[in-house]
Amino acid sequence: MRPEFLLRREHFGSLAYSRRSHRFFAFDEHATEIFSMAARGEGRDVLARPWPFSREELDEFLDEARVLGLLGDDLALRAEVRPDRSSPGVLSAPLRIYWGVTYKCNARCRHCLADAGKRAPGELTTRQMIAVADELEALGVCEVTLGGGEPLTRPDILPFIEALRTRGIEVELTTNAFLVTRPLARELNALALRHVDVSFDGASTETFDAVRGPGTFVKALKGLRVLCDEMACGVEMHVTGMRPVLDELPALADLARDVGCRGIGFLKVRPVGRLREHPELLISPGEFVRAVTRLEELCDARGLSGPTDLHLEELPGKDLFVNFGCVGGNTTCWIDGTGSVAPCSYYQYLDARYVGGSLKERPLKEIWDRSAPFARVRALRPNRKCARCRYLNTCRAGCRVLGMIYHGRPNAPDPYCVAEPDDAVFEAFLLKGRSRRDRAILP
Ligand code: SF4
Ligand code: SF4
Repeated sequence: MRPEFLLRREHFGSLAYSRRSHRFFAFDEHATEIFSMAARGEGRDVLARPWPFSREELDEFLDEARVLGLLGDDLALRAEVRPDRSSPGVLSAPLRIYWGVTYKCNARCRHCLADAGKRAPGELTTRQMIAVADELEALGVCEVTLGGGEPLTRPDILPFIEALRTRGIEVELTTNAFLVTRPLARELNALALRHVDVSFDGASTETFDAVRGPGTFVKALKGLRVLCDEMACGVEMHVTGMRPVLDELPALADLARDVGCRGIGFLKVRPVGRLREHPELLISPGEFVRAVTRLEELCDARGLSGPTDLHLEELPGKDLFVNFGCVGGNTTCWIDGTGSVAPCSYYQYLDARYVGGSLKERPLKEIWDRSAPFARVRALRPNRKCARCRYLNTCRAGCRVLGMIYHGRPNAPDPYCVAEPDDAVFEAFLLKGRSRRDRAILP
């Protein structure tokens, strides 16, 4: 069995990831030297060596590391260690990968950012995906979130999840749940996933089917119920903040509670992909903030975890980088079904120039360390609004893709900023779109 901890050498020292609590712990160079000695079987020598801190402080640190479970009573290291491959100021590898394993999908959602439907030419084969999983293991990537398209349409999805799990990688699954049967849910449960998210855009056939296609509400609800029954890891509803769901928030919260969901996520709507053709589905930043606040209350009252999103969502390692901007390209990255790598999926589908390379041609490590798009997102200069904001450290300046969409610059303010939503920018964006469409139909 694999140890609970994975220890990665990083530019600041090292980073430990607990596979049990899914928490990250950052350590400086001295702590890292202690771990290195412990890994070499020289744990006892740590006590005899001079350090630039007192013996009391050393004992305190060793006690904490023992309580955490990183060191044994004999001062042996209890972690899998990844070698030092870190570049200055940049994590040695992503902590989490979002991986859209196919473009094939059994729905035609109006808001699909990937314009999914048919399998794309050149999608990675099982063998190619396993080769990537080998690299992820070697790099010490901690978590992978699988999505699509619809990931359950891949016939090899279960063996692939198993391949990731046997490599010590924690797996989350994002699905529309249409294909979920009880035997499949049991097989998924046996793979000890970290988490399952079911995309769910309405509490009634009328709203849901209008967004996701005829007959989809019944199929999704059936799958969601089965997953909630069978998955020990817990299941969340993932709702995209679009106009039809605004009137159904209480009904959504009731439904989530009744089927046994753990909570509800409420995602910012981003006009990328098919949603560009459906501006009527967008909601304003003010409406988004009011909806999240309302949903939070509704979830609280029903014992559900709420949409902590507000772009302060629980994302890995937000405090592990100093660059301006979000986790995309700093602690996480995206792989699409054909092996293209970008800081996040929205970057890729909004502007293909943000693709850093293909895993068919270059290893992930090279793309992460050396490609121009990743360098660009790490070099963003702060905008004035966020630079002066007291929430910057936790918020990380909201969404950079929304800055691009609404202002044309990746470092521009996110209109869906929770502290100060900007409805004027949103209105101007709609007007611009309208006049463009009007011009298109004029002779
Ligand atoms: S201004 Fe808004 S988007 Fe920027 S850091 Fe503050 S809360 Fe976040
Ligand atoms: S750019 Fe936006 S969608 Fe992409 S990772 Fe950052 S916050 Fe998330």
